[in-house]
Amino acid sequence: MRKPKQPRVYSELTTHYFRPELTVCPTCQTRLRRHATVSERTVITLQGPLRLIHRSSRCPNAACATRLRSYRSAAADALALPSFTFGLDIVILVGHLRLTAHQTLDEVHHALVERLAPFALTISRREVLYLFDAYCSLLQAAGSVAEDVQWRAQVDQHGGILLSIDGIQPDKGNETVYVVRDVLTGRVLAAENVTSSETAVIKRLLAPVVALDVPVIGAISDAQESLEQAIAELWPTIPHQTCQFHYLREAARPIHDADSSTRTAMRKDIQNKVRETRAQLARHIQAGQEATEPKTQQEVEQLCVLADYALSIQTALNLDGPAPFEYAGIEGYDALTQIETSLQELEKRGQQSAARCAKSWSGSRSWLGDAGSGRTPSPRSKACATGS
Ligand SMILES: [Zn+2]
Repeated sequence: MRKPKQPRVYSELTTHYFRPELTVCPTCQTRLRRHATVSERTVITLQGPLRLIHRSSRCPNAACATRLRSYRSAAADALALPSFTFGLDIVILVGHLRLTAHQTLDEVHHALVERLAPFALTISRREVLYLFDAYCSLLQAAGSVAEDVQWRAQVDQHGGILLSIDGIQPDKGNETVYVVRDVLTGRVLAAENVTSSETAVIKRLLAPVVALDVPVIGAISDAQESLEQAIAELWPTIPHQTCQFHYLREAARPIHDADSSTRTAMRKDIQNKVRETRAQLARHIQAGQEATEPKTQQEVEQLCVLADYALSIQTALNLDGPAPFEYAGIEGYDALTQIETSLQELEKRGQQSAARCAKSWSGSRSWLGDAGSGRTPSPRSKACATGS
């Protein structure tokens, strides 16, 4: 009997969240809302292993004709083929080494082992063979998609396809593998290895997509001029979104990763203590509310102010922000510093001014966002009284 496969353990794994590049509904222009997790898996790329969490979105407008259409992230689908742990960049490198550099299977295997060694990862000879197969199938994608009846039915349901075009360079040189995908189904529609990126070459690459004869809703690609030109010539009326956002995000990636680890360290340090403190405060508040003496009532009010501070600290720890413009670690640190200053002030002013101090501070905590906007740290706030 075959032994069950042991899950691989990766030493350094950063999590990357992917959301659709389209943020508004192309039909009714309503802002799209998060819908479901499409996939959550580990992908090994030439830049190391990563944890990929891919979330789709839908139009929340009940009156919209395309409200049931789910949008995927073209960038997430571009990382790896469905059900593959090794990324598309590795698949393409294998194809390049084997077919263009004319290396033997053993040579390709050796090259990959060397590329993966810095991440304490390895690859078997059999896996290399499997990736080479995948590369060959990728280049024949156009043929298989034309005959796929099930896929056609999905396209009919979506009302057409949304194109994404990616150029991947396997090595320094002028060779580029272009992969054309439908963003709505994640299906590869065409792929070709070319040595020139002129408009005529891109148009030839897109010819199998034209031949599919399905409505094209729009296109997503980087801002390469020949790509823009080819799409404008083939589908003059469709919207074409260029992914400058992705350039920016990749450029900001190292800072964002450092920021994430800062946030994790802050959480590790503070989270449990804050939880315990909040539970303790809630118990004291409840006990105080059951008493009737005026002195105890005043104490309850003060405890409520502290409970609001504790909630604010927890909210600061839970801040989250997508790359490239939001840095949850920095925002959380700023927020905690504000809270610290405010607490020091509170201590200085003494008991009488406690409530006043909390009130003036509440106006300056814009960083609380949605989590904080529904509440002010008033001693008599309802959530506080129930210790939630
Ligand atoms: Zn809509």
